[in-house]
Amino acid sequence: MFRKLLIANRGEIAIRIIRACRILGIIPVAVYSEVDRSSLHVRYAREAYCIGPAAPQESYLNIDTIIETAKKCGAEAIHPGYGFLSENQNFVRRCEEEGIIFIGPPATSMEKLGPKTPARRLAMQAGVPVVPGTVEDLSDEAATDAAIDIGLPVVIKAKDGGGGKGMRVVTDQSDLGAAIRMARSEAKSAFGSDSIYVEKYLIAPRHVEMQVLADNHGNFIYLGERECSVQRRHQKVIEEAPSPSVDLDLRQRMGEATIAIAKSAGYVNAGTAEFLMDKDKNFYFLEMNTRLQVEHPVTEMVTGLDLVKEQILIASGQRLLHKQEDIQIKGSAIEARIYAEDPFRNFVPSPGKIETLRQPSGGGIRLDNGVYEGYEVPIYYDPLMAKLVAWGATRGEAITRMRRALWEYIIIGVPTTIPFHQQVMDDPQFQRGEIDTTFIDERFPGAPVGRDRQLHHVAAVAAALHFQQTDHQAAPSSVRGGHVNEWKMSGRRTQMGFPR
Ligand code: ADP
Repeated sequence: MFRKLLIANRGEIAIRIIRACRILGIIPVAVYSEVDRSSLHVRYAREAYCIGPAAPQESYLNIDTIIETAKKCGAEAIHPGYGFLSENQNFVRRCEEEGIIFIGPPATSMEKLGPKTPARRLAMQAGVPVVPGTVEDLSDEAATDAAIDIGLPVVIKAKDGGGGKGMRVVTDQSDLGAAIRMARSEAKSAFGSDSIYVEKYLIAPRHVEMQVLADNHGNFIYLGERECSVQRRHQKVIEEAPSPSVDLDLRQRMGEATIAIAKSAGYVNAGTAEFLMDKDKNFYFLEMNTRLQVEHPVTEMVTGLDLVKEQILIASGQRLLHKQEDIQIKGSAIEARIYAEDPFRNFVPSPGKIETLRQPSGGGIRLDNGVYEGYEVPIYYDPLMAKLVAWGATRGEAITRMRRALWEYIIIGVPTTIPFHQQVMDDPQFQRGEIDTTFIDERFPGAPVGRDRQLHHVAAVAAALHFQQTDHQAAPSSVRGGHVNEWKMSGRRTQMGFPR
């Protein structure tokens, strides 16, 4: 086993990896940018090194500095987390050249599965259905012809895309030319390549993804699916495991399809195949994520596995400890991403200082948190502060626990996505599991409603005050006895409240 492991990331995921290191007796080494000097991940690590200025290009994406730091401090392995360098083949190759173990797949499989069109080709060769579309590098003319051939609506996508960047949905033929140009230029500036391809745009599919693990000895297992259909602008907001629409047979078929793809790429370590699923439960391969996913905790909650620990064990050369038949899905888990974003102002990123922080805990609750009271959420990075995960014996119980935990969760100082999650958890359609990728647009157009904003803030302040009261009777009448959850406005119960 490694003695020291460097974590080339920040925030909650860096802490998540530090925790796995501690469990395995490995010394966790953090790196940080100048603006992250007082970040929580730095405090959790045993050692921490500054790797440059705030701009990601100069710190968390600076391959030379990170490699040099690993060598200087004697780290034998690097975990990249998600984002930043996690899917950067050059970085993986550099690690391989320098004799540092990269916790993830080898560069050769990343090459085959990282970019989207080679991955699509490989999936087709492995006999897995893919979303209909192209697999070649296309000129503007060829892309236009392909789109017409496939039939509108289509989506133009960046070959090296991610995070919804370089993606354009086209429903009207007259928009094709502009969409192709925009997708290209967005892809060029985000990924350094303007290579695009075309896919049929499926109407209201579900996003269902399958987690796999592979060791260096040719063993593969799948750990079940995650349902990630609750999305905003094609990006996940709430994830859960298992999917309310996947049964044992479907899980097995998706799991085997994913293993077939992983095998043909010589895949090692943790990976996720993303699929779109139509109303008839036909699934189509979308892309492979060759790294740990943000939403991996929901899989951990229902399988009992520690995915980061598994990743590190695999990277150290160990065989998988579990066989396929050992993997049982127990209960249901839901994750809500807690961003410093203002849901009342179209989810605009809202970095700033966290004045008050009260975190939920208790039965069935897991909080992967990256911030603290008094912390200043920086403007330079993704504003994900924490991931709140609720587990229950049933999906209903997981939702009830999530509602309870969201009610306990108080963050004052920066607007957060908490009130939005409360609305989703309260939504009967969500509760019935009737979700697809159009769910948020359909159920919450422009939501949550603006007038709740101030109310939410007042309620949060009141709840914080209430916590500080030693004598409840002395509290303002509106918060006495914890009844802040029963605030009403215009005769309507607020979304702030946890209904009894
Ligand atoms: P990225 O890698 O940029 O996040 P993905 O290809 O993973 O992009 O797609 C992200 C989301 O966009 C999907 O979960 C889905 O909601 C939507 N999407 C992508 N491709 C299609 C498609 N062909 N048809 C319908 N929706 C799609």
